[in-house]
Amino acid sequence: MTARLLKLLALAALLAVPPSGCRGLADLGAPDGRIRVVCTTGQVGDMLENIGGSHVDVRTLMGPGVDPHLYKAAPADIRLLKGAKVVFYNGLHLEGRLAEVLEKLAQRKPTYAVVEEIKNNAPERLRKAPQFPASYDPHIWFDVALWADCADYAARKLIEVDPLHAEDYRRNADAYIAKLRALDNESRALLAEIPRRQRVMITAHDAFAYFGRAYDVEVHGLQGISTADEADLGAINELVRLLVDRNVKAVFIETSVPSKNIRSLIQGCEATGHRLVLGGELYSDAMGPPGTPQGTYIGMIQYNVHQVVKALQ
Ligand SMILES: [Zn+2]
Repeated sequence: MTARLLKLLALAALLAVPPSGCRGLADLGAPDGRIRVVCTTGQVGDMLENIGGSHVDVRTLMGPGVDPHLYKAAPADIRLLKGAKVVFYNGLHLEGRLAEVLEKLAQRKPTYAVVEEIKNNAPERLRKAPQFPASYDPHIWFDVALWADCADYAARKLIEVDPLHAEDYRRNADAYIAKLRALDNESRALLAEIPRRQRVMITAHDAFAYFGRAYDVEVHGLQGISTADEADLGAINELVRLLVDRNVKAVFIETSVPSKNIRSLIQGCEATGHRLVLGGELYSDAMGPPGTPQGTYIGMIQYNVHQVVKALQ
């Protein structure tokens, strides 16, 4: 028997329904009658909390600073997923190492990628991943208008799962989507204040391409679309030339990605006499700690926009 087959069998056993009379710990969740919703990333979890309000108990697998590209399910995650009434995830292979688990779950309970409808009906709104033309760039939350449409889809799916609270879910979703539309406009207006030639963002990995497209910012990532890719020396040297040419003052690091490559860039610029500073830390694939403004999706976007405006203006 191959190791892979053994792994699959173990996974199947974990996901199997327990025999009656044997209630797993996870099944005891939400005794107050709330719907147990399990989400992968903080952004998706925040979306479902806003839509579900007091009727849902949202659990998020990936906390602050966690890299979704490399995230693997721990036994505790499998238990949480098993006890969920409905599961929401980002999709487009953002959660690359959870793909097998999510596929299996989808066969036994409502399991939705929030991007699913856009991918099926309006794929032209998605970006192709430059290094992997067969797949899409998964960092869709950085185009707030796109994310608002994902929220609308998630709301309709939650209503299918729990039609009893349809009215509340619809009302919550409409209020949240209105806030997202305002955030979209506000972000565009603030970023437009940076002179176009200086409106260049260099970040640790290619998470901000949707952000660049939505808000007219030229974006370069030092690494590919996934944090599993290593930046090569050639790419670093090319970016050093661009930064010197355009007199760009700052580069950004990301909370969920090591800053090693960004530091090589700063050293490269120094060697040519161009002073480049760290424009601060941006939230890319993970949100900030719960209870802080950056611990919400809206707060995280606002924080990033302010950091970029402050550093590049
Ligand atoms: Zn990423």
